[in-house]
Amino acid sequence: EPALSIRGLTKVYDNGFHALKGIDLDVQQGDFFALLGPNGAGKSTTLGAVCSLVQKTSGKITIFGIDTDRDFAKAKYQLGVVPQEFNFNQFEKVLDIVLAQAGYYGMTRREALPRAEKLLTDLGLWDKRNGSARMLSGGMKRRLMIARALMHRPKLLILDEPTAGVDIELRRSMWEYLRRINRDEGTTIILTTHYLEEAESLCRNIAIINHGDIIRNTSVRALLKEL
Ligand code: ADP
Ligand code: ADP
Repeated sequence: EPALSIRGLTKVYDNGFHALKGIDLDVQQGDFFALLGPNGAGKSTTLGAVCSLVQKTSGKITIFGIDTDRDFAKAKYQLGVVPQEFNFNQFEKVLDIVLAQAGYYGMTRREALPRAEKLLTDLGLWDKRNGSARMLSGGMKRRLMIARALMHRPKLLILDEPTAGVDIELRRSMWEYLRRINRDEGTTIILTTHYLEEAESLCRNIAIINHGDIIRNTSVRALLKEL
């Protein structure tokens, strides 16, 4: 079964705007997948619907075969989410932010602490663990959200514009990290981006979205041959 399957997804916002016009999408397990499109295309709305942050108007979403309308509570254990906006309490300590996440997912402190140490170390944040999150640079805050999202070992990691506003050097190291968890841990990754360069250097498969419709869905390799 696919990691994610979307059928006929529509979203009409309260103001009557049709942000998604009935999209279909499948992402296979182990894939590194990009949802590429210009600003306003519907990328965040799509991810929001998958994570239940946005209430869909119609359509069906399954995560590893679990229908999110039937059992989102179960589906959410498979899911790690890195939103676009910083949504942690800036006044909390870095370590507490990732440990709190582990708590929400029912991990004991004994499991959570070594996991936090590994993730924060790999992401270059272990030295900062006892400082409050507001002291971190923008790129560090982004990495903190990645560490937090990975605490409960999700099988599917979803990132909304993970490298927006991140300088090129840090972007490269984030790419390297994401490649590594996709390759070594088999984590399925879906990210949104408006940089073709990011999609082509990282991802295996790609869907191009514009005005709420998926206009292409192909492998990156096939797409590059056409350009
Ligand atoms: P939902 O239908 O998913 O509950 P709403 O239509 O209630 O979403 O809007 C959610 C939030 O997004 C509101 O707080 C609203 O102010 C904000 N919002 C409204 N218009 C836009 C827009 N064009 N782009 C981004 N956010 C918007
Ligand atoms: P992207 O992530 O591709 O930039 P979004 O999914 O954020 O696009 O937005 C798609 C469209 O829906 C945009 O035109 C945006 O202005 C609109 N939109 C997003 N949120 C809301 C909202 N809460 N209410 C009304 N329109 C919204």
